Amino acid sequence: MQCIPSDTLQEFVEKARPFSRKGTVPHYIPALAKAEQTDLSVALYTKEGCVSAGDVSKRFTLQSVSKIITLALAIDDLGRTKVFEKVGMEPTGDPFNSIAKLENQTPSKPLNPMINAGALTVTHLIQGMNNEEKLERILQLVRKMANNDRITVNEYVAKSEFETANLNRSLCYFLKEHKVIDGDIEELLNLYTNQCAIELNCIDLAHIGYVLANDGINPYNGEIILSKDITRIVTTFMVTCGMYNESGEFAIKVGIPAKSGVSGAVLSSIPEKMGIGVYGPALNEKGNSIAGVRLLQSLSNQLQLNIF
Ligand code: GLN
Repeated sequence: MQCIPSDTLQEFVEKARPFSRKGTVPHYIPALAKAEQTDLSVALYTKEGCVSAGDVSKRFTLQSVSKIITLALAIDDLGRTKVFEKVGMEPTGDPFNSIAKLENQTPSKPLNPMINAGALTVTHLIQGMNNEEKLERILQLVRKMANNDRITVNEYVAKSEFETANLNRSLCYFLKEHKVIDGDIEELLNLYTNQCAIELNCIDLAHIGYVLANDGINPYNGEIILSKDITRIVTTFMVTCGMYNESGEFAIKVGIPAKSGVSGAVLSSIPEKMGIGVYGPALNEKGNSIAGVRLLQSLSNQLQLNIF
């Protein structure tokens, strides 16, 4: 389906864009530091079709948005009981890459699948003979949800993160020490950095949001991609933990289920209504797209999207 540029949506983009100057692109993953600070694009899927604004040809990597994909896949593979034996359901209030709660809590189990410790644990649960097969399964799910067969991994970004992922390595060793995960840590990091480096644009992202909004079914061909139960779990985590330690403020000010990534991606899903994909690489101090959050806030107000 074609996504039509919208002048009205473009006005929202231009109002939000100046906020990008107040943010910063992330430097801890060198490849992401090359992003254009003031980029801002959005796409929005509803039953009427797709509209967009900004430069939608800009591609970016999923980063933490991939955490909802792997969570869905792990629950589909193993069932929710097995998955939530290894990872909790509670927000942390800490930055996404914090190690603190692993040390303070007994047993040392990551509090939720949206923080890095929890996401690494979930990726460890993905089924497959080897990393290649596991990554292919993750990619297949992303492609189906985005309705785009051409989506693939940006290997440059994956490598850049793999080489510098010392904090995530530490989280893994901690998790291994406490028997939350086992096996080869470099292998796990390799898979995780590849899933984070899956590359798409905001139209693809909006379609993923729209499938979630439609109970896991592709609205255009009726294909059941995720069960209703899994979709509900994923969407609930988006509300409680999707914007890291800004999730509470985002729920009050914007009021829609959303998941962000340090690339500046924000995936939103408004149940039964719409999917929104936003890309704005300048981040606020919590690691969320600074202009993207502004844009979503004004769209939510204008279109009365607040679900609460
Ligand atoms: N790949 C990133 C990391 O592990 C994802 C984090 C994010 O998007 N917040 O640090």
